[in-house]
Amino acid sequence: MDYHNFIAGDWQETSQSTENVNPSDISDIVGVAAKGDAADLDVAIDAAYAVAPVWAKSTPQQRFDVLDFIGTELLVRKEELGRLLSREEGKTLPEGIGEVARAGQIFKFFAGEALRQRGDTLASVRPGIDVDIVRYPVGVVGLITPWNFPMAIPAWKTAPALAYGNAVILKPAELVPGCAWALAEIISRSGLPAGVFNLVMARGSVVGPKLINSPKINAISFTGSVPTGRGIAAVCGQQLKKLQLEMGGKNPMVVLDDADLDLAVDACLNGAFFSTGQRCTASSRLIVTEGIHDRFVAALSERMAALKVGAALATATQIGPVVDASQLAQNMNYVEIARQQGGKIMGGERVKADTEGFFMAPALITETTNDMRINREEVFGPVASVVRVKDYDEALAVANDTEFGLSSGICTTSLKYASHFRQNAQAGMVMVNLPTAGVDYHVPFGGTKGSSFGSREQGSYAAEFYTTVKTAYTLP
Ligand code: ADP
Repeated sequence: MDYHNFIAGDWQETSQSTENVNPSDISDIVGVAAKGDAADLDVAIDAAYAVAPVWAKSTPQQRFDVLDFIGTELLVRKEELGRLLSREEGKTLPEGIGEVARAGQIFKFFAGEALRQRGDTLASVRPGIDVDIVRYPVGVVGLITPWNFPMAIPAWKTAPALAYGNAVILKPAELVPGCAWALAEIISRSGLPAGVFNLVMARGSVVGPKLINSPKINAISFTGSVPTGRGIAAVCGQQLKKLQLEMGGKNPMVVLDDADLDLAVDACLNGAFFSTGQRCTASSRLIVTEGIHDRFVAALSERMAALKVGAALATATQIGPVVDASQLAQNMNYVEIARQQGGKIMGGERVKADTEGFFMAPALITETTNDMRINREEVFGPVASVVRVKDYDEALAVANDTEFGLSSGICTTSLKYASHFRQNAQAGMVMVNLPTAGVDYHVPFGGTKGSSFGSREQGSYAAEFYTTVKTAYTLP
């Protein structure tokens, strides 16, 4: 299967290409993907820039029809595309199918939002004057996406971009071209004018700077690592370019003495290890009060050891492979660092499967303190650590003692502590008796502190990023 770039309404071949390797079986090449260069990006930017005013004037009905078409096809093909997703990214098949369905729901939601765009009318403080506030598209948006949600993240950036009348350059992650291509293929048949949506598969380090620096790009939405995000922010700041960043997390899950133990173990097992821990919302710091600590660790480690690690498409698999060799090496390295700093390691070893892939047993690291590197830096793998604390006050302090602020959870039966935590957790999303990962698609997603920058993604709040408001004063 060859995945070409989709630029200015045409499928474009590139002089270079890259192999899309299945992380469950490195002898399986899922496809060969275009590796574009700066010249390809130029063509895409010019096309988007030229047609942006046309799409900006499209009617809500046109936008609804395009988005509804894309959403419907994603939902109809969720099994097939879910299989492709799991094959190229490594999450289990139910997770892959669920993610494609999520992408379809996102397009359906924003199809509806296209019909619901509203402004505001206020009376002026001066007599006889009308004040109207109307939203307009931003123009051309550059969307840069990571590999861990190869369908859902491109969807949750592309759908609002199009719904609010913008032209798009999508630069997906190099490791997952298949999903981006499949999405682009559906979009290519959706009735959008040529050039409104462009897929540019390329190395981020090659085309990224040009995309960010282009004066024809009006806004950048990025999801990825902290160093890349900070680099982009520096450039966009210099250029006063609109920017939205979603980066890492080191999400705390507090477990109090009064928690329902089974529920807490379920939430932590899911939050820490499902999707191979490759979620920016993963519960990677488990902060446990001393009265329940030993029972919690015993129950969680038993459940963790029973998780079946294996090929993403095998029916028995609960934890798929790590995405590639360098991520696996990073995970192993963090486990070793934690060991050296005094952590006690359970699991975390390489796992052999029928095929050669990047398999790793989930790791639980106990006896850690919050100043250890394992509790400061994002691993992005199936690795969680436990910090023992005295009481709720210490738990809250430890939960907030991080440079990140994406998601924060608490397991408790106490209304008092749950309410206090909801108000005082320094995070964009707070979960009570639920894993820190796993969110709805019709409400805002995003964090505080070092996790995110700019306005929120998803739900009707996405309008803040993908539109700009104009305030008009009229003396009739
Ligand atoms: P991760 O690999 O952990 O997802 P990265 O930040 O490396 O995090 O990658 C996220 C996205 O950013 C990818 O699409 C990647 O190609 C892109 N990218 C990498 N370097 C740059 C850069 N210098 N400028 C813009 N985008 C980049």
